[in-house]
Amino acid sequence: MKTLFIGQNEINDASLAMAGEILRRGGLVVFPTETVYGLGADALDADAAKKIYAAKGRPSDNPLIVHIADPADADKYAVVGDAYKRLAKAFMPGPLTVILPKRDCIPMTVTGGLDSVGIRCPENPIARRMIASAGVPIAAPSANISGKPSPTSAEHVRFDMDGKVDMILDGGECTVGLESTIVKVEGDKLTLLRPGAITLDMLRTLFDNVEVSAAVTEQLSENVRPLSPGMKYRHYAPTAPLYLLDGSDEKRIAYCTAADGDTLLLVFDEEAALFPAHKVIAIGKQSDERTQAKRLFAALREADSTGCKKILAPLPRQSGLSLALYNRMIRAAAHNIITL
Ligand code: AMP
Ligand code: MG
Repeated sequence: MKTLFIGQNEINDASLAMAGEILRRGGLVVFPTETVYGLGADALDADAAKKIYAAKGRPSDNPLIVHIADPADADKYAVVGDAYKRLAKAFMPGPLTVILPKRDCIPMTVTGGLDSVGIRCPENPIARRMIASAGVPIAAPSANISGKPSPTSAEHVRFDMDGKVDMILDGGECTVGLESTIVKVEGDKLTLLRPGAITLDMLRTLFDNVEVSAAVTEQLSENVRPLSPGMKYRHYAPTAPLYLLDGSDEKRIAYCTAADGDTLLLVFDEEAALFPAHKVIAIGKQSDERTQAKRLFAALREADSTGCKKILAPLPRQSGLSLALYNRMIRAAAHNIITL
């Protein structure tokens, strides 16, 4: 398949109308969002959704999120209650996915066989203009090869998806860089299934009862089916094994200094000059979790391209936006944590 690449300065009504037409006739379009790039297809078309799984090499029990242009459209595809309306008013459009009981128009192929559906209204204007131009809801997972780090730039997408999709829309670098927060709504109880830029503290300002699914911070045993199927897969993983270092800065710096020369170090900006014998990638200042979130997946991809044998990185905290970093990094590291 020849992939049509629409550059940043070619995004306009005409190219977005073309994207809408491709989607309406069952094709695949990669589009930018504020979280990561999405691999989109018509969410009402079971055959189109199947093409997403094929392009990504994604297991078919791993559901797709349904993207809408206006938070009020959720009602057409899911059973919407008061809790959704409160979440939508506070955080939509934005990096939040809400799991709700699905309506019949959403095929089981999209939801991985579940009777619930994840609904999200992205904040990125290119994403919303594209969905509006398609006139149908858009099922989209992250636009990476399954298991690899999510794409946060059009270059990442091109690397993974050239020749597998009809069109790629370049929207520049994603501003958040980590996938959406996912919450499941049952009555007035919320369960956090995946942490993201809408943090636990933000959710708790609106709801008294917010539980955190064990899968967010822990490794599930083989026979447990998690509430959020994506959580069971090794994910976001670079080719070289990643180890997360849990300990004081002094101990971590000493451990990194002593590492073999073919080890790549992910370090905070202020530490970048401390390791002349190693290849290092700076992931942002220690106090700046937003930049760390934005750079994480690009850093894992860059690490891969160096051919290093091993990667070492600091273990993130489990609060604020860092909970999302923690959640992605323990998966990327297949839960390999070294206590110093
Ligand atoms: P991705 O779009 O690649 O970030 O993956 C979407 C993730 O959303 C899946 O891996 C699931 O973990 C989660 N998800 C989507 N729909 C549902 C649903 N109906 N119930 C629970 N989790 C869901
Ligand atoms: Mg994904």
